[in-house]
Amino acid sequence: MTTTAPRPAAEAGGTPSRLVDRFGRPHRDLRISLTDRCSLRCTYCMPADGVPWLPRDELLSTDELVRVAAVGVSLGITEIRLTGGEPLLRPDVVDVVRRLAALEGPDGPPELSLTTNALRLPRLAGPLRDAGLQRVNVSLDTLDRERFVALTRRDRLDDTLAGLAAADAAGLWPVKVNAVAMRGVNDDEVVALTRFAVERGYQMRFIEQMPLDGGHTWDRTAMVSQAEILDRLSAAFTLTEVPGRGAAPAELWFVDGGPATVGVIASVTAPFCSACDRLRLTADGQLRACLFARTEVDTRVVLRADDGGPDATDALLAEAFVHCLAGKKAGHDIGEPAFVQPDRPMSAIGG
Ligand code: SAM
Ligand code: SF4
Repeated sequence: MTTTAPRPAAEAGGTPSRLVDRFGRPHRDLRISLTDRCSLRCTYCMPADGVPWLPRDELLSTDELVRVAAVGVSLGITEIRLTGGEPLLRPDVVDVVRRLAALEGPDGPPELSLTTNALRLPRLAGPLRDAGLQRVNVSLDTLDRERFVALTRRDRLDDTLAGLAAADAAGLWPVKVNAVAMRGVNDDEVVALTRFAVERGYQMRFIEQMPLDGGHTWDRTAMVSQAEILDRLSAAFTLTEVPGRGAAPAELWFVDGGPATVGVIASVTAPFCSACDRLRLTADGQLRACLFARTEVDTRVVLRADDGGPDATDALLAEAFVHCLAGKKAGHDIGEPAFVQPDRPMSAIGG
């Protein structure tokens, strides 16, 4: 088995979540994809020509996505992360943030964060912060311009770096940097990326590459594992494990005694499924219990059906959350013979 045995995730303080699955895992975290489109074409995510985009009339309007989020928050969601595709390509992203920040759950408003390639952060970091965004994760896989071009198929390294600096200046802390480690591509930059982050007060996170690319090119033997990443880091830094991981996907280490940390998200070699507290809403309104789920629950059909008024719609949306969770599996089974990559690429699910 590649998954660890299910155990109930510890409930944080506050009102218990009503979103508890059959393995006892309370769900607190909703990842909302604002669009499946993107300004980059990262090789591990999309083919050079992109993927067939979702039809525009199938995308949730802002009213619709805020409504689904409001129902989730009323059921116990306390953290919302905006993602995509590239979430900053959504023209009204600042308004989306403002409206989500105004939601009230049993424990108050949700925490709001965003995962982005940062290209639009120089212009948007301040307005997003003012609208209620609390922090960002920025994807940066290399510090080398030519590699950046090869990896993302766009010459935009300077814009990403400017976006990171803008996030920092706007106070979107802690600024986290995500890198997917790839053999022969950027695995020799693990130490340089960590130094870059530590020097600027950012938190570095390495991600094991997952079978979610639109081109279906993932190869486990080529994947750089957590063990390899830690070997490289240990040659340059003293790493001490940070205790108290909770439901966080990254396992963290203090770098040279701290306070700087470096993390690894070992979704493949050390899955954290047993503590997973995440649900996902795609840009076209499908609720998913897992990145690797093969089933989805359609909220768009509920939102667009004209039957019984707002209360009835909210009740049906609440049922959609419960139904989605009822189908959640113990783990993702990557590496098992029965594993099948989901039809949707990462960019259309929301990473
Ligand atoms: N465009 C934004 C960005 O790149 O940050 C948000 C969406 S992106 C799909 C979210 C995260 O998923 C990024 O950190 C990216 O590196 C990661 N990602 C994409 N494809 C992946 C894969 N096949 N394996 C592991 N992580 C992946
Ligand atoms: Fe775009 Fe993010 Fe995918 Fe890169 S990882 S192609 S930035 S969605």
